[in-house]
Amino acid sequence: MILGVDLGGHSFALGFVRDGSVLSLREYETPRSRTAEAVSAALRERIDEMASGIRVDGIGIGVPGMLDLEREKVLRSPNFPGWEGLPLRYLLEKSLGIPVRMENDANCTAIGEGLLGAACGLKHYIVLTLGTGIGGGIVIGGRLLRGGHGMAGEPGHLVIGGTNPCGCGGLGHLETVAGADGIERRAKEAGIKPDLKSLWEQREDPRVEPIWRDALEALGASVASLVHILDPEAVVLGGGLGPAAGFVEALEPIVKRHLGDPYRSLLDLRIARLGKAAAVIGAASLFLPDSEERLC
Ligand SMILES: [Zn+2]
Repeated sequence: MILGVDLGGHSFALGFVRDGSVLSLREYETPRSRTAEAVSAALRERIDEMASGIRVDGIGIGVPGMLDLEREKVLRSPNFPGWEGLPLRYLLEKSLGIPVRMENDANCTAIGEGLLGAACGLKHYIVLTLGTGIGGGIVIGGRLLRGGHGMAGEPGHLVIGGTNPCGCGGLGHLETVAGADGIERRAKEAGIKPDLKSLWEQREDPRVEPIWRDALEALGASVASLVHILDPEAVVLGGGLGPAAGFVEALEPIVKRHLGDPYRSLLDLRIARLGKAAAVIGAASLFLPDSEERLC
């Protein structure tokens, strides 16, 4: 059996994947220190619990952050400070004693949604994961876009201007305004309880409205730019925020306002279907022969 793992940040999720379904998806808190040793030990413990009597043939891991082209090292992970340059795949394989393959977590989500979820049947699509930060996976011609160095498909780091420092080390990136951390930071500065869910529910409150106006405007303009560059069949919105009631309805008119005429009537914004299971399915599929060719 193949085990899929979504490393996340505050928590990690894992589950066995068989015939495209996740069996017993579980979620656990990430060790506070977030060191590679502690995370590896926590994985070992949970895998032993789950896998008693089951032969684990491989572990696919979705890692939040930028990876090298060979999928051996973490180049930068805002959720796991200190992992820069870490040969994570090798370290985990050595510590777990099971073959390990890794991929960016949002790329895993994109593969999962393409195999079984909202992007089923599509060859050209973008998945945005709207969470603590903003992740993304881009599939073009049925294949994941990895770029020249392995770091393509980072919509959270689209430059929208300004000088907000981003967790990646750059300035003025989309996720500083439209990621949950950025939104909650602004709420805190305005003396409002920084809780994303309640902030969305109170989005018409005059103190909260400007925060969402800026976030949605930045996100809508960025989605329009991505559509102009990539001409996808659909843009899938996932993470905690994408499926929130009323979110797509609020975003769509802003995206359309920014789109050129020929693109506007073709816009297809969709809500992700698989939730946390998408990344686990996508991670496990790294062990399928030519998984990207199997996008349904
Ligand atoms: Zn950034």
